[in-house]
Amino acid sequence: MLFGALEAGGTKMVCAVGRADGTIIDQISIPTRTPEETIPEIIAYFKRKDIKALGIGAFGPVNVNKGTKQYGYILDTPKLAWKYFDLLGTIQKELNIPIGLDTDVNGSCLGELTFGSAKGLNNVVYITIGTGVGVGIAVNGKLVHGMLHPEAGHILLRKEEQDDFEGNCPYHKCCLEGLAAGPAIERRYGKKAVELKDKKEVWELESDYIAQAIMTYILTVSPQRIILGGGVMHQEQLFSLIRKKVLNLLAGYIKTPELESMDTYIVPSVLNDNQGIMGCIQLAVEELKELGKL
Ligand code: ADP
Ligand code: ZN
Repeated sequence: MLFGALEAGGTKMVCAVGRADGTIIDQISIPTRTPEETIPEIIAYFKRKDIKALGIGAFGPVNVNKGTKQYGYILDTPKLAWKYFDLLGTIQKELNIPIGLDTDVNGSCLGELTFGSAKGLNNVVYITIGTGVGVGIAVNGKLVHGMLHPEAGHILLRKEEQDDFEGNCPYHKCCLEGLAAGPAIERRYGKKAVELKDKKEVWELESDYIAQAIMTYILTVSPQRIILGGGVMHQEQLFSLIRKKVLNLLAGYIKTPELESMDTYIVPSVLNDNQGIMGCIQLAVEELKELGKL
């Protein structure tokens, strides 16, 4: 049985077909333009495939609450062409198959829970640090929704003394995204993040901020594991810095076996940047199961 997966991002739409075990058998990428231009291409792709259900991981804010009037709508986004666009409804009308939907980062979190670094766990935080910062959260094995969905990339941080960059977030300036996403690094130093690889101070500061945020997630969600992905985390030296700094910040306040083996507590994804699309496959699988069709 084949499932469709759509990772709907602000810059590209990744469409894929896969099996319930997470195997991806076909994948294309379509640049994100207006819905009028982009959606027909997505629909045409999936119409050619014999899929039984589709899973969508969408950029936010997006209404993820089933049973509400705007379920599946993109909400108040700065991407004006997509503001209040009925993403799920428009696709469903054409494909006429069950569709599961969540945020892109919750999708990645589900990918990790089902196939990746968090297999078998119930309480997990997935953080992506790229063009923005997104956080997917699972509690008791379920992806967290609520009045909307978590937006934990925007938690406020304490500015480090040596940092005179004011912060990049148009809403909060010095939230995690405003201080530590790729564009913040690039504006602070005037260079692409990847070109700063050998500048020790860049990654010291970056890991200070990521560690501060992780401390907050540990204290609020009590995750059994934390997974870090996204373009910026390709700087692998960040992992050991972050692990050390998280322990320093916690200052022995929490003592658990997990925190005694930080190498297996704060980890990279093992899914080669496929966690998002694999999570979308699982969203499709879970939707069919919920309908009693699997
Ligand atoms: P997106 O968040 O748009 O889905 P990415 O996760 O690839 O995409 O994140 C893009 C950001 O990550 C950019 O700001 C880019 O500078 C940064 N980035 C990409 N690759 C690297 C790298 N190897 N080292 C440091 N930063 C990187
Ligand atoms: Zn913010």
